[in-house]
Amino acid sequence: MATATGQRIDALDEAQLLRTIDRWLEKEVRPIVRKYDHDDLYPAELVEQMKELGLFGATISPEYGGLGLPAATYAKLVMQISSAWMAITGIFNSHLMLALAIEKFGTPMQKARWLPKLASGQIRGGLALTEPDAGTDLQGIRMTARADGGDYVINGTKTWISNGVEGSCFALLVKTDPQADPRYKGMSLFIAPKQAGLHVGRKLEKLGYKSIDSAELVFEDYRVPKDHLIGEAEGQGFFQATGGLELGRINVAARGVGIAEEALRLATQYAQLRKPFGKPICEHQAIQLKLGEMVTRARAARLLTLDAAAAFDRGERCDLEAGMAKFHASEAALENSIEAMRIHGAYGYSKEYDVERLYRDAPLTCIGEGTNEMQRIVISRQWIKRNPA
Ligand SMILES: Cc1cc2nc3c(=O)[nH]c(=O)nc-3n(C[C@H](O)[C@H](O)[C@H](O)COP(=O)(O)OP(=O)(O)OC[C@H]3O[C@@H](n4cnc5c(N)ncnc54)[C@H](O)[C@@H]3O)c2cc1C
Repeated sequence: MATATGQRIDALDEAQLLRTIDRWLEKEVRPIVRKYDHDDLYPAELVEQMKELGLFGATISPEYGGLGLPAATYAKLVMQISSAWMAITGIFNSHLMLALAIEKFGTPMQKARWLPKLASGQIRGGLALTEPDAGTDLQGIRMTARADGGDYVINGTKTWISNGVEGSCFALLVKTDPQADPRYKGMSLFIAPKQAGLHVGRKLEKLGYKSIDSAELVFEDYRVPKDHLIGEAEGQGFFQATGGLELGRINVAARGVGIAEEALRLATQYAQLRKPFGKPICEHQAIQLKLGEMVTRARAARLLTLDAAAAFDRGERCDLEAGMAKFHASEAALENSIEAMRIHGAYGYSKEYDVERLYRDAPLTCIGEGTNEMQRIVISRQWIKRNPA
């Protein structure tokens, strides 16, 4: 298996890495997830452990101190962690999207300066694209960067930014030419560390995906030197920001697989233990139909995700594959978590069981990295393109 930088990771290394992660999940994560999730507490101790495990450098090249994992291994790792607690994958996932933008499009100086600190977790951050009036329509953003001597001065507001409170650096999408036509030609991507001129507007309260902070970030006469413009070239921001979408979608798909499989696991156990009318509910056809659908959905989600990751690792264009994986796996997460809740009866509605967290977390996978409404349109367009009449 080859990484993006041509490093090789063999099956043995991968198995060892996944075993290490599994031990960490059992020992450190599963015992605290319910309390931290319910109290919406930031898991600072887990973040320190995640640094030790190398998660903040999972997909960054070894030459910058990262693990340089191929997408397939990374996807398996995200699946595994998401089955224990999906929210904590957000602490390193969007951070790695920031790193990817720098590694793929940055100047040699930018890579040398930022990537080692990102790989170690010394600097942690995310991707700041969305604004109050522009999510799906990314080209509709209003934040501007105006050149001023050797600097840029940035004004505007971003919202829903993962790691917005706890993180210290963001890949920031702005308009350097608000009048450009087409609009994407006026967009640029900056490396934006927290400093004077940037403050957290507010932390956003959410249905699920607790413990990881989602925030509004306000930029007021925020000033950075020109060497913070990724690639030091204006007008490339839209492609730089969306250049990580395939990996981003594989990543969200992997989160969906984790939730879908965990919902299945919990429902499978419960269905054999719960015995109203003197026999386990798994012997009732109504429950068998649910389990049959759940296991099929979860399996298909895993295979689609690994298929997309394999295409990515071969260096092939895989927007169709990543789109299908993201769409199916996120819907599988949502459906399996609700079915697991139904199988648990009243206990599925109880905060003393993990199932309720799964169906609060699952819907996010249908929204992030392109809503599933848009995803189907992307899939269809690519499909038509690959199959001309
Ligand atoms: C917990 C959480 C974390 C997030 N983290 C980040 C982050 O770290 N960084 C970041 O930049 N953003 C982040 N986001 C924002 C997320 O990427 C956006 O919410 C998403 O892109 C959708 O944008 P929107 O909410 O503005 O919805 P809108 O774009 O307003 O869409 C609303 C509805 O209309 C549909 N729709 C819109 N346009 C079309 C169309 N052309 N055709 C068909 N249907 C359409 C959408 O599918 C959706 O159903 C996060 C969001 C959440 C909830």
